[in-house]
Amino acid sequence: MSRFWSPFVEKLVPYVPGEQPKIANLVKLNTNENPYGPSPKVIDAIRAELGEGLRLYPDPNGDRLKQAVAEYYSINVEQVFVGNGSDEVLAHIFHGLFQHKAPLLFPDISYSFYPVYCGLYEIPFEALPLDEHYQINLGDYIRPNAGIIFPNPNAPTGCPVGLEHIESLLQKNTDSVVVVDEAYVDFGGETAISLVGRYPNLLVTQTLSKSRSLAGLRVGLAVGHPDLIEALERIKNSFNSYPLDRLALAGAVAAFEDRDYFSQTCGAVIESRTVLVAELEALGFHVLPSAANFVFAQHPSYEGAELAAALRERRVIVRHFNKPRIDKFLRITIGTPEQNAVLIEALKDYGLA
Ligand SMILES: *Cc1c(COP(=O)(O)O)cnc(C)c1O
Repeated sequence: MSRFWSPFVEKLVPYVPGEQPKIANLVKLNTNENPYGPSPKVIDAIRAELGEGLRLYPDPNGDRLKQAVAEYYSINVEQVFVGNGSDEVLAHIFHGLFQHKAPLLFPDISYSFYPVYCGLYEIPFEALPLDEHYQINLGDYIRPNAGIIFPNPNAPTGCPVGLEHIESLLQKNTDSVVVVDEAYVDFGGETAISLVGRYPNLLVTQTLSKSRSLAGLRVGLAVGHPDLIEALERIKNSFNSYPLDRLALAGAVAAFEDRDYFSQTCGAVIESRTVLVAELEALGFHVLPSAANFVFAQHPSYEGAELAAALRERRVIVRHFNKPRIDKFLRITIGTPEQNAVLIEALKDYGLA
């Protein structure tokens, strides 16, 4: 604290991201990055962009990227917004599309950035409990609200919600914006982008950080009715005209164009997930059904914090949340088959059998 701080800064409670350790030789399974690198075509596109041209500002609208996304999903460019990571896109959504007269609704166990944005933009919220199986019950969300947001699949549980439930929510909730945060949808979920044409209050966000292996490049997007997109453009153009630099734009376009590499790497992660779940279950873990690139698992005989510490001593880092209801769980990012094997060996070395 400092006497130079505004009263607003004093009461902010910022998000704490997963650790990015500086130590070498760690098996890093804590922040849901992709274990495979980006497409070689992405690297080529970024290299081609490196040069003289960097003296010029990038395209403020990211038109080529919007076009690539529109082509990928067979939608119109006017339905696409792009930003500096989906976190920035989400921030603009909270700022520009959620109301203040009723609470914003999201799950109690969910992406912990949501309450942080509520603090930043002074939006009241209500966190609705997951059911006893850690599932989102969208029936609970039919009540007065300033907006609704949830990840699908949910984080940190990995559990997906079927599109039919989302559509039924949209039919009953027509007066506020419903945001589906699809950060992990490419690992086995079903995208709600197919519904945006029919529901003008639906906004779908995605990121290139996970399924497209570009967490380091910072690119995210939103898809929805052109009126919703225009609100985001207004916020963006009141904040930063050039959120995506030339390298990010070039890399992101190439990532959407290289469909083969994308489906290969997502397929490999999904395959490894099946193997890892079976191995964890063989060691006595209960694993929630995951459609994401991570699993949420608890062991009846060990505390989550204890296992996370034991793994860390063995150079494997996973995520543990010190929060009611989920403090027994570990969130483990799916690694390469080799990384997953190191994790399993480390657990056995600690005494699990
Ligand atoms: C990772 C993640 C994001 C943020 O992604 P970035 O594009 O890297 O900012 C958003 N929502 C959820 C649920 C995530 O897990």
